Amino acid sequence: MSSAPQRYTVTAALPYANGPVHIGHLAGVYIPADIYARYLRAQQRDVKFVCGSDEHGVPITIRAQKEGVTPQQVVDKYNAIIRDSFQDFGISFDIYSRTSSKTHAEVASGFFRKLYEEGKFIEQTSQQYYDEKADQFLADRYIVGTCPNCGNENAYGDQCEKCGTSLSPTELINPRSMLSGNQPVLRETKHWYLPLDQYEPWLREWIVEGHKQDWKANVYGQCKSWIDQGLQPRAVTRDLDWGVPVPVEGAEGKVLYVWFDAPIGYISATKDLLPDTWETYWKDQGTKLVHFIGKDNIVFHCIIFPAMLKAHGDYILPDNVPANEFLNLEGDKISTSRNWAVWLHEYLQDFPGQADVLRYVLCANAPENKDNDFTWKDFQARNNNELVANLGNFVNRAVVLTHKFFEGKVPAAVGFTTEDEDVLRLLQEFPARIGELIDNYRFRDALNELMNLSRLGNKYLADMEPWKLIKTDAARTGTVLHVSLQLAASLVTLLEPFMPTAAARLGAMLNTEKGTWPQAGRPDLLAAGHQLAEAALLFTKIEDATVEAQVQKLLDTKKANELAAAVSAPAKDDVSFEQFQQMDLRIGTIVAAEKVAKTKKLLKLSVDLGFAEPRTIVSGIAEHFLPEALIGQQVQVLLNLAPREIKGIQSQGMLLMAENADGSLSLMQPSSPVRPGSGVA
Ligand SMILES: [Zn+2]
Repeated sequence: MSSAPQRYTVTAALPYANGPVHIGHLAGVYIPADIYARYLRAQQRDVKFVCGSDEHGVPITIRAQKEGVTPQQVVDKYNAIIRDSFQDFGISFDIYSRTSSKTHAEVASGFFRKLYEEGKFIEQTSQQYYDEKADQFLADRYIVGTCPNCGNENAYGDQCEKCGTSLSPTELINPRSMLSGNQPVLRETKHWYLPLDQYEPWLREWIVEGHKQDWKANVYGQCKSWIDQGLQPRAVTRDLDWGVPVPVEGAEGKVLYVWFDAPIGYISATKDLLPDTWETYWKDQGTKLVHFIGKDNIVFHCIIFPAMLKAHGDYILPDNVPANEFLNLEGDKISTSRNWAVWLHEYLQDFPGQADVLRYVLCANAPENKDNDFTWKDFQARNNNELVANLGNFVNRAVVLTHKFFEGKVPAAVGFTTEDEDVLRLLQEFPARIGELIDNYRFRDALNELMNLSRLGNKYLADMEPWKLIKTDAARTGTVLHVSLQLAASLVTLLEPFMPTAAARLGAMLNTEKGTWPQAGRPDLLAAGHQLAEAALLFTKIEDATVEAQVQKLLDTKKANELAAAVSAPAKDDVSFEQFQQMDLRIGTIVAAEKVAKTKKLLKLSVDLGFAEPRTIVSGIAEHFLPEALIGQQVQVLLNLAPREIKGIQSQGMLLMAENADGSLSLMQPSSPVRPGSGVA
């Protein structure tokens, strides 16, 4: 598109309504999309920012079945949680719709019917797995079996999550139904396919030749590799009862495949928002369409959906698809099933009112070109060193000093020095510089430029030292604060796309409102005499204990995962009954316990085993038990283990312990106290 677009349609990936959203979603999709939309609004562009819940497909019906509720109840629950999280984090959608809406059913079904009537689909009958007990075809994840590639026994009908291989159900070894656990049978069924192979020459021209320069390298590379591998016809229908029914005769019991139906959700959301004028945002060539997604959705948004739009013929194509890579968490891949995530609704419980801090950290550390890692230590450091010490500090000093020396009124500027003029000249360059980076989807760099503006302000204050200057030259002090306050006022507008709440708080403090983007660098945003409101802290320091608690929460999750995943050690070789009988197992009571000097692990125990004298046993359990906590406890002892000398102490037997998967130890105690020396048999 050479001339400036007349309007923008900005979409953010439809979150799948079978779970809450986490920081990976925010960093990958919603924060960059929101910055872009807010920036375009500040540029006074005509922009519609649309999103909604993706509410169809097999994972939702499987979850409903597991939880004993209806699919509708599943999507109602998560749609509400997701919608609230987006609102709490200031994601400024013009509409957040749902693919279970009536509008969507009409739009998606009309889309399918047009392609059907124009002969754009291939009809094909094939053999698919059918569960005779459940009386149902087994679409996608309703079928599991052994992966032919890695041997994982729980590979899905469409993908093995262990090795990442894409599969078709008939490739699975020992297939079984998720519904009944039975072995399914093959039955004939008819489906409609979009012949992607027919669109290959066009896709090659449009993407490989047409978007080599302007699409991100990671996006372009993935598309090119898909096209180079050769595209296959792709089924757009499924045998399922949850979804948009296939609107043609002979398609009873079939719905649109979720990946045909979901991207049409962008169109129906726009129609929900603008029932009369929505078409302008999807069909007029003056509209620039931009899809924000994560890298796992690249093929659907760059190849399949554009092929659908092209086949339909009435729609514009995406101008850009600035997909991000993945965000990891503390060095490990974010995983919903392992609960390895920072959930947005939980973050706000622990950090109330601090949505902007997370927005900042996730943008400053965004996985724009490669996978990136979120750590709580980095979160704390960025908050304390960048938000508090740079941005917050600059604004605070300018406002506090104005209150202290000038009764909170913007002082007049009395003649500018070269330094003042330099700062004001640099200020005027920031809106265009930050804007150009946003226009090119370089949000990290844009945010860094924004922070450079506040660094400029801090340096200026540090060089001018108005807190000293006031003693000798009040007029000059006034000029310095006048200049500083212009910088602070420009931040109200320039900060807003990145941290909308902080921008509003800053605006309140300066008693001004955000303006338009091109005007944000003006050197006269606040007139002399303008009254400021009270100073307030924009950001507060995050203490070590706060982030340590978050790290501990993750360590607890990791431990729980390890325990859940632990498998029994293989059985040892058989022993005869005679061999077993040779072992003298007893219950004893610990009567004394102390650490063995100069050792970390050893305890010296005296154990009453019913003999005249207690036995001495040295045991390597000092890191697991306090000596005083053991006194009085009954324990199991192997009495006739040959005596050994350990650290100069004769040990006469061995304590038996249960060892947990994480290495922690448990005493083996009788369920009620027994007489010391009782045999175990
Ligand atoms: Zn596999």
